[in-house]
Amino acid sequence: MEVVTFGESMVLFSGDQDLPLEYVHRFNKQMAGAESNVAIGLARLGHSVGWFSKLGQDAFGRYILQCVRGQGVDTSRCTFTDAAPTAVFFKERRPGGGTKVYYYRDRSAASKMTPADLDEAYLTQAKILHVTGITPALSEGCFELVLRAMESAKRNDVGIVFDPNIRWKLWDRAEAKGKLLELASRADYILPGLDEGEFLTGVTGANQIAEFFLKLGAKAVVVKLGKDGAYYRSLTERGHVPALPVQEIDPVGAGDGFAAGFISGLLRGESLAQAAARANAVGAIVVGVHGDTEGLPNEEELTAVLSGQSTYQN
Ligand code: ATP
Repeated sequence: MEVVTFGESMVLFSGDQDLPLEYVHRFNKQMAGAESNVAIGLARLGHSVGWFSKLGQDAFGRYILQCVRGQGVDTSRCTFTDAAPTAVFFKERRPGGGTKVYYYRDRSAASKMTPADLDEAYLTQAKILHVTGITPALSEGCFELVLRAMESAKRNDVGIVFDPNIRWKLWDRAEAKGKLLELASRADYILPGLDEGEFLTGVTGANQIAEFFLKLGAKAVVVKLGKDGAYYRSLTERGHVPALPVQEIDPVGAGDGFAAGFISGLLRGESLAQAAARANAVGAIVVGVHGDTEGLPNEEELTAVLSGQSTYQN
């Protein structure tokens, strides 16, 4: 595998009406998970990628495995447990607009992961390890697993891409800051959003955030700026990529698409500016389509957007 990633994916039930959940009768079932989104994005761009997790020995665990494997991602290192369930969550469409999510993930199967779930031989043959700040929030065992994977990657020259992806519902703020900085100090490439970058570093603005992480040891930092594109910086390159014009249909999953595009650029040996532009284009394409993974482009679609031949807006 060129890339290895791991984390929790959940079954998402979205209410089909703009009502509080107690009044909703029908739900649409989908799969959701940041790391599996990135894996699917990479597979769609033609890369070989493995995603692993611990799934409940239940229908939802089997459903997640089918979804991820069905997209061409290697799931051979996934394990099942009958000691804990696969996590689910519900999305409420608020009357008057907006959404709210309700997690049922406490003590889930994935939260039971520990360093024993890492196949080091599988990881160390990869070129890139992708990790997010979601996994270490799940449990102490998951935090230790992320640390172990990063340390093993570092010893074996596997590049480490870290997306802090702070989920406020899962963390105490002080603990989040301490643990995520501990992980960030081991990463080669860091992809924070502007707000989370400011929270973690205590400084303001994309350039300052990037400088903080470069001093911490990163090779490059790309700060995601939503509809303002992205700012990238390494020791030798820096610049801003303006967002591609797109009608925002569903912003969820943009950050994961961005990570997939960025990693794809690294694997292609692109410069930081080129990899950031590739990431920025995938992020924009995802924003223009309903769903977290439905909009993820294949290489042909991405090339058309990057070369200005297509705006790819459904
Ligand atoms: P997520 O909601 O998936 O966690 P995020 O907060 O990590 O996303 P964003 O900054 O919202 O990340 O989006 C990631 C990238 O996607 C942006 O840096 C940009 O390249 C692209 N993007 C996001 N929103 C838009 C938009 N409205 N128009 C064009 N591009 C966008």
